[in-house]
Amino acid sequence: MPDRCYVPLCCKSSYRVCLPSDAVRLKEWLVKIRRDVSPAFQITERTKICSSHLKITDFRVTLNGR
Ligand SMILES: [Zn+2]
Repeated sequence: MPDRCYVPLCCKSSYRVCLPSDAVRLKEWLVKIRRDVSPAFQITERTKICSSHLKITDFRVTLNGR
């Protein structure tokens, strides 16, 4: 199974990144891409999304707590 973007209907071809292994950050990312975990969308270690779905700040420690 090729590395395809986890975002539904995605047709981007930008650089793909693995989802974070940290549960909290993973949930934040899923919110950003509007995708929740479901039986049809299980996340594996091969699950990746396009970097273009995320802002560059998402790759750093989130500072939006306040
Ligand atoms: Zn994508």
